Amino acid sequence: MDYINQKYFKASIEETPFESNQNNKACSFCRHTKSPSIQLDDSLTIISRDANKAEIVCLQCFYEKKYSFEQQAEGGYLTKDGILLDSEKYNYLKDSHDYDTDLLPKEKQLLSIEKSKIQELQHTPPFNAWQGAIWLVHCNDFMTFIGTWEHKDFVNNSPNNDPSAFFDNICDNWNGDDFYDNQFGPNKSEYAESTFYAFECMHCKKKRGYVDNG
Ligand SMILES: [Zn+2]
Ligand SMILES: [Zn+2]
Repeated sequence: MDYINQKYFKASIEETPFESNQNNKACSFCRHTKSPSIQLDDSLTIISRDANKAEIVCLQCFYEKKYSFEQQAEGGYLTKDGILLDSEKYNYLKDSHDYDTDLLPKEKQLLSIEKSKIQELQHTPPFNAWQGAIWLVHCNDFMTFIGTWEHKDFVNNSPNNDPSAFFDNICDNWNGDDFYDNQFGPNKSEYAESTFYAFECMHCKKKRGYVDNG
């Protein structure tokens, strides 16, 4: 299993939309079929002079920087035209009762990240996510995606052998009562369908993550 080892992505290639040999269809850039590739659809937007014509893009051309990806991060979108804040894309968010305490700090944080880091994130493969990959932020930088986690990963990373408490500590968007036990624990519900995306800050080593319920 191939591993992608980049500044903002340290996980298996299976965590990305790149797949081996898409029915032998050739990459729109290099015309080869050897490298894992992505059949583009509405869920991904690439940045390239020839973006409109590209239908299939390969990993080799990605490494050669023939194109990059628009990405979503905490606070907004990293588009080819620059940062589009969440509240610029969805104006009604400014009216929500917790805009000042929740979203606004994230938007300010995103605006303060150096442009070179944004470019580097655009040259990072997105991870597979039901509702779109969102990059978390820490120490004024994007965090490194380290994979989707299951119970054993929480056990292995928990500092005091309490995976449920560790989950509550690092999960951004979910907590409480039986959620961990029902969705991730060793006796999880047969209907459990939550996915957890894990990140690590490369500066302070803090872990964070969020739950996607498909
Ligand atoms: Zn290619
Ligand atoms: Zn940090």
